[in-house]
Amino acid sequence: MNIHEYQAKQLLKEYGCPVADGVAVMKGEEAKTAASSLDGPLWVVKAQIHAGGRGKGKFKEEAAGEKGGVRLAKSVEEAAEETQKMLGRTLVTHQSGAEGKQVNRIYIEDGADIETELYLALLVDRETSRVSFIASTEGGMDIEEVAASTPEKIITFSVDPATGIQPFHGRKVAKALGLSGVAFKECVKLVGQLYTLFIEKDVSLLEINPLIVKTDGHIRCLDCKMNFDSNALYRQSAVLSMRDETEEDPKELEASKYDLNYIALDGEIGCMVNGAGLAMATMDIIKLYGSEPANFLDVGGGATKEKVTEAFKIITSDPNVKGILVNIFGGIMRCDVIAEGVIAAVQAVGLQVPLVVRLEGTNVELGKKIIDESGLNVISADNLSDAAQKIVKAVKG
Ligand code: ADP
Ligand code: MG
Repeated sequence: MNIHEYQAKQLLKEYGCPVADGVAVMKGEEAKTAASSLDGPLWVVKAQIHAGGRGKGKFKEEAAGEKGGVRLAKSVEEAAEETQKMLGRTLVTHQSGAEGKQVNRIYIEDGADIETELYLALLVDRETSRVSFIASTEGGMDIEEVAASTPEKIITFSVDPATGIQPFHGRKVAKALGLSGVAFKECVKLVGQLYTLFIEKDVSLLEINPLIVKTDGHIRCLDCKMNFDSNALYRQSAVLSMRDETEEDPKELEASKYDLNYIALDGEIGCMVNGAGLAMATMDIIKLYGSEPANFLDVGGGATKEKVTEAFKIITSDPNVKGILVNIFGGIMRCDVIAEGVIAAVQAVGLQVPLVVRLEGTNVELGKKIIDESGLNVISADNLSDAAQKIVKAVKG
């Protein structure tokens, strides 16, 4: 799960990390009051969307010479004006996809006089099974670009969970960032705070880009991106309350309510499968026979009639879906129960596109019989390859 920059900064503040004062705004009318609660003389007005690269982003229907999603303002009035200009519009960045994201929240923050922009991140490194730090003096711009062209400018190391975070880790980061004096000391402290936050809140990625040294020599986290481990949200109610559902794919959101593992993709064949491995194989074989899956969907081992119906609703709500392939192995479940579920779902939701059903496992004969005798326009298939060929043929003609 992702959260917005201003929410991430709230968490940083709770852990004592240096961040500027700021106020989040959801309505244009609130902008002036929000901006006047800050000291000035410089205000930064930042579009809050779940995508990076806002500074260099572009608004749709952009006026000539208009700035991106991060704007500087020299007065309360100007800050309020920029807030109103951005609210409700669509911002396209290199991370948002071509369709962009609607800006529903703005963060107005105290501006900083920047001396240098640095990069600092923590993530779960699957190779070492540890939390890793990534530090670079090349902050502010695309770290991917730095990694590709000058990888020696990125320093990485992991923390041994047995001993946890130690002051030498902080010194390592501060040294890698080329800091000295008060900034060095603040960085050592920050590293400890970030690590504690990371562990306590089940964060999976924490990126500060840029971490800045101000002209007065102090450091500050100027931007922050945080991702959380979705499997840990049951014990992170404070984090969960920061969830912004408007940022998520509505189909994926609906699926999560019914405990369906669903990921929207951009192909044309909707898939309903049980088991992640079988779902992956189904997507592969659809590609093999010349089409593309419209989604990944694992209904789980114990899919009920209700779950199958919900899954159907979600698949059919996608206008890109030109055909549906149901591929279910009746291991824990019986094929006749699944067949009844599929029929009930089709009757409830209606069927505008071809549907191929492939069942295998316990009571498969009875399952097929139920489908064949349902009178519905369902194509039944004998094996995975047969099923994939049939649905691709039905869609492509
Ligand atoms: P994004 O990464 O989405 O483009 P950032 O928050 O990193 O957004 O902002 C982009 C740039 O805008 C920063 O690299 C920095 O130069 C400038 N900036 C952002 N916040 C402030 C601030 N509070 N004061 C001064 N400059 C800022
Ligand atoms: Mg940034």
